[in-house]
Amino acid sequence: MRGVLPTIEIGYWGNKEGPVQDDISVRFRDSVEVEALMSPFQTNRRNLILGGAASMASFAGASTASAQTPEAADCEATNYYGAPPGSGLSMPPYYQPTPSIKNNNNYFPQSEPLGPDEMRIIFMGSNPWPPRMSQASTSIMVELGNGKRFFFDFGPGCLRNIVANQVPIPEINDIFITHLHIDHYGDLPYLWQFAPFNGRWVPLRVTGPSGSRPEMGTAAMCDHMVQMGLWTSTWALGGMADGYEIEVNEFDYTDDGGVCYDQDGVRIIHWRRSHALDGASAYRLDWNGLSFVWTGDGKPDELTAEYAKGVDVFVSEMAVDLVSLWAIKQGVSQTMGALTIDNFHTPHYAVGYLANVVQPRIAMVTHVSFDRELIGEMLSGIRMHYKGLFAFGIDHTVVNVTKDRVWVREAAFPETTNVVRPSAEWMQANIPMEVTTSPNPVLANQQQSVRDLEIDPALFTPKDQMRRWARVAEMGEEITVDPANLIPTGTPQASS
Ligand SMILES: [Zn+2]
Ligand SMILES: [Zn+2]
Repeated sequence: MRGVLPTIEIGYWGNKEGPVQDDISVRFRDSVEVEALMSPFQTNRRNLILGGAASMASFAGASTASAQTPEAADCEATNYYGAPPGSGLSMPPYYQPTPSIKNNNNYFPQSEPLGPDEMRIIFMGSNPWPPRMSQASTSIMVELGNGKRFFFDFGPGCLRNIVANQVPIPEINDIFITHLHIDHYGDLPYLWQFAPFNGRWVPLRVTGPSGSRPEMGTAAMCDHMVQMGLWTSTWALGGMADGYEIEVNEFDYTDDGGVCYDQDGVRIIHWRRSHALDGASAYRLDWNGLSFVWTGDGKPDELTAEYAKGVDVFVSEMAVDLVSLWAIKQGVSQTMGALTIDNFHTPHYAVGYLANVVQPRIAMVTHVSFDRELIGEMLSGIRMHYKGLFAFGIDHTVVNVTKDRVWVREAAFPETTNVVRPSAEWMQANIPMEVTTSPNPVLANQQQSVRDLEIDPALFTPKDQMRRWARVAEMGEEITVDPANLIPTGTPQASS
């Protein structure tokens, strides 16, 4: 079979037989022998597509093979979802709402206290590039029934989604970065600079890998972030300054399987990923017999197959291996597209391959451009190898997990969300209750002459609205800050 494809020769780089050549030459060809480029699976994949077995809706599960033996029929009888006609695919019997779920179709933030034995995972961003109305960059929040929250990666735009999910700002902490591409930590400076305003007067805790050189590690990134943020942090008053501290837990990226968090029954390990530069890491969280893996970015690899084995929720990054389409749609050069996928990322076929090895209770993909017209193609690639429960982890996807149930929904919230107050318990446990004073930072950092140019408030403020201005001139050298004011004793009463 021959075809004319505007494509390039791919598929021979970085294989196990030899390293990537220094002088990579990319050969564009007007025509290419399609057969020569087809993998052994490709025929099967096309048959799958033609047969319709793999082109189901955006998520589909399978617990049984298609063989219609009496044994298989018996097995299917235990699954009340049954098998769709002709496909042999079905939702597994454990795909059921967990006990804490109030609405089986949507998750409404703050409406569902998490069960004590339950894990909830919410995707706060899912696309590496570009920023989209529907997708921020990668971030996954994991909440546990013991009250702990963890954030895996913190890509640009994720903070908006986290706020919309009504997570109190001071409680956005314990952030685990897989690697230092900006799509995995771009909202960190935003959070770091603003969170003290909302009462996070305790250090930001960031965990991440070292690099091949000190300047390539997580600690160096945080140091430079502090430099970058001086404009904001210089204004810190009293105890607020503690909120501009960063506790960096930089682990040795070569320590495969090393523990980077071990508190309150929660254990998080990491391992190396093959992704662009040394230091890229994956994470696995284990708590109370439940587990979660986020691969971060990287090529499919044996360490992930080993450490993720049998995990409850396996989340992989994914790059759809369609460089010609990228070129047509986005103007991404095919060379760049092929280099990116072949050196940095997990193609959709590989997601299925890895998921089949790992055998999770649910496999998910994120870090993917969720183009609706490509859902069938993405799924067909994954379904070549993996027949288990699967779902996309796109912004607002919510997954509840217990030992015997898994359930996937979408979060629902209005567009005009605002930050939610932290609980009084959190404030009392974390905010110092003594009155503190500090030198007025404005006096040291702003000229009086520019203040003198301000228009007198009396010229634009209604007389009955005039109040004592919290202005520098009236504050003097010392400012008194009373953290107790952060917790109001009641709602304001209308004055008569
Ligand atoms: Zn990325
Ligand atoms: Zn990356």
